[in-house]
Amino acid sequence: MNINFYNKSDEIMDRGLLEKKQLEKIRSLVNRALATPFYKTLLADVGIRNGKDIRSFRDYQQIPFTQKDDLRKAFPSGMLAIPREKVIRLHASSGTTGIPTVIYHSKNDIDNWTDLLARSLAATGCTEQDVLQNMMSYGLFTGGLGMHYGAERLGMMVIPASAGNTQRQLNMLRNFAVTVVHATPSYLLHIYSRLDSYGFSLKDFNLKKAMVGAEPHSEDTRKKIESLFKIDVYNSYGLSEMNGPGVAFECVYKTGMHLWEDAYFMEIINPDTLEPQPEGGQGELVLSTLNREATPILRYRTRDLTSILPGACECGRVHRRITRIIGRSDDMLIINGVNVFPSQIEEVIMRMPEVGTNYQIVLEKKGSLDQIIIKTEVHQGIFNDNTRELNQLSKRIAENLKTSISINPKVELHEPGQLPVYEGKAKRVFDNREKI
Ligand code: AMP
Ligand code: ZN
Repeated sequence: MNINFYNKSDEIMDRGLLEKKQLEKIRSLVNRALATPFYKTLLADVGIRNGKDIRSFRDYQQIPFTQKDDLRKAFPSGMLAIPREKVIRLHASSGTTGIPTVIYHSKNDIDNWTDLLARSLAATGCTEQDVLQNMMSYGLFTGGLGMHYGAERLGMMVIPASAGNTQRQLNMLRNFAVTVVHATPSYLLHIYSRLDSYGFSLKDFNLKKAMVGAEPHSEDTRKKIESLFKIDVYNSYGLSEMNGPGVAFECVYKTGMHLWEDAYFMEIINPDTLEPQPEGGQGELVLSTLNREATPILRYRTRDLTSILPGACECGRVHRRITRIIGRSDDMLIINGVNVFPSQIEEVIMRMPEVGTNYQIVLEKKGSLDQIIIKTEVHQGIFNDNTRELNQLSKRIAENLKTSISINPKVELHEPGQLPVYEGKAKRVFDNREKI
């Protein structure tokens, strides 16, 4: 096996030294966090006024968790730890309501993040010989620009294709002899299903690898993409609160994702008791940004469920591996890579006066892509009117959902009383997609 390193000394360093550095980084992270109104209050409540107050990892575990909602409440800049003129970029992701969570980056932050992606790509065997077509969206979403800069830093040739437009993607794959793609697993399967109809066959391509992430997928899905395209597929994990892609990545051995522990401090907690899980136990991943300047975050509850794999990886990297993400400890849905909370959907549809009180969110697979169907009751009066009006209403509901939360639903309107009523907690979400 050909083992590539981007920066070998950081990747195979002694475990003791890594942990010593982590504790030092936590202390300076606490000092940076204390510059924000949010952490000043949070840390004062547990008696932490200076990084020096953290003498051990046990002290660190006294720090209260940070949640997505805290970031939302701090919108737009309550978590900014440096002067605005030192910020060079922001990214944002969806929150539980319409308010996004915003992450600011300094020049060093972008630089460090870029290094992590260059390191991740190198770990999968990518070199400057490779051509990467980045099929993740460019914009506020981190999968576009984040991966872009990392690949450039490694010297790869990058095609900033962005998401969608399958025929154009296929043309570029062929015309530029692309060797590596970055995409969601569902989009890759979708592309495969369209090869024939656009007049392509595998012989037209020079593809060797795919980096897939942004949504949960199973080992079987990986194997399916590998055998259909005859390529190697690597799992890439990240979240915008922790920069984006480049938090954890598989190496050539494909036995779990190395979580880059010189940049993120990880814990696995029981999502119900919030206590640390025993070693190897499955639970919710909690992360701190060890290096970030502009938006330092301490003990962030990712809500992603995983566990730490025992033992060392054959590649020799010191950074421990986590299993693929097996679910979430909250109700966030990931629809074709876009994060959506049911509460956001409710907020959008309930704002429309024609809509009744009962609704359902149904998720299905349409080919390899996710399809979301919103079933909602509307007031009787509308049903008595003509169908043109009903069609216009469902179109308007779909458009509102598209503009506010970037989903493309099919909308079904129902007469009052047609959808089931629950006596206890209403069941609104029916996820009929295949389980992991
Ligand atoms: P965002 O902040 O929009 O980038 O979304 C981050 C979320 O996407 C994570 O918290 C995960 O729930 C999900 N995610 C990202 N990468 C993966 C992956 N490789 N496998 C499973 N879920 C993922
Ligand atoms: Zn490895």
